Amino acid sequence: MDDCLFCKIVKKEIPAVIVAETETVLAFEDIDPKAPTHVLIIPKEHIPTTAELDHHNIDVLSQMGLLANEISRKKELSGYRWVINTGEEGGQAVYHIHLHLLGGRKMTWPPG
Ligand code: AMP
Ligand code: ZN
Repeated sequence: MDDCLFCKIVKKEIPAVIVAETETVLAFEDIDPKAPTHVLIIPKEHIPTTAELDHHNIDVLSQMGLLANEISRKKELSGYRWVINTGEEGGQAVYHIHLHLLGGRKMTWPPG
């Protein structure tokens, strides 16, 4: 999608610190990290929110999870948090699905 920030990162039109990638998913450092490790894992395909996941594209969520685990192992995280924000009330700012992988510090609960 032309005016999507994360699609531009996929197309390398905007720079990002790429952490890992497969044919279908991409992981890069969050520009404003909320923890010592803060990686965003996105599908290369433009899917705006979790609400658009269905039987045709749900597999990409598994691929995002597998890449997140690979990164967690490489960074030797002993605990971490996965977050996907959906919609304005859910705290979503960029409308291209992304999994936040947060780690390297003690997480608090409940989240804000
Ligand atoms: P969310 O609020 O769940 O939509 O999260 C959007 C995330 O994207 C935030 O954590 C931002 O810091 C991050 N972000 C915004 N622009 C960029 C960028 N150009 N490169 C990397 N991360 C970004
Ligand atoms: Zn996009």
